[in-house]
Amino acid sequence: MSNECLSCGACCAFFRVSFYWAEADDAGGLVPVGLTEPVTPFLRCMRGTNQRQCRCAALEGDVGQRVSCSIYHQRPSPCREFERSGEHGITEEACNRARAHYGLPPLYGTDLLSLTIHSAATDKPFRLQLPPD
Ligand code: SF4
Ligand code: SF4
Repeated sequence: MSNECLSCGACCAFFRVSFYWAEADDAGGLVPVGLTEPVTPFLRCMRGTNQRQCRCAALEGDVGQRVSCSIYHQRPSPCREFERSGEHGITEEACNRARAHYGLPPLYGTDLLSLTIHSAATDKPFRLQLPPD
C-alpha cells in the first residue's frame, strides 16, 4: 500500500469487493474463503462489503487514520487493480469518491487540489460534491 493508502483505507470500506468465486482458496485461489461471502453462484465478495455499513473483514485499523490489509498478498483481483488517484498521473474518481465519503480530501488533479487548499484555508471539513447517481 502507498503512504496515502496506509492513512486512508476508504475504498476498503465503501465498495462491494466482488470477484470470480475461484479466486478463493477453496477453489485453488489465494483469498482465504473464511473472509469471503457468496454473492451469486459465480461471484464471491469480501465479507462485510455487501452491506450498507460496508467494511472489508480483512481491513485492520481506522479509516482515515492508520490501516492495513491483513491479507495483502492474498487480496482479490479488484483490490490489486484498484488505482489510487494520482498513481499514474491520473485522477481516479472512484478513489476520490470513497475518500469523500469519509471526509478525506481528494488526491491529485488541479481543480481538486485547489479545493483541498481552500478546505485547509477555511479549516472546515472537506466534502467533495458528488454528481447525482
Ligand atoms: S481510497 Fe484511494 S487513497 Fe484511499 S486506500 Fe483506496 S486507493 Fe488508497
Ligand atoms: S482485501 Fe484488503 S485491499 Fe481488499 S478490500 Fe479488503 S482490506 Fe482492502
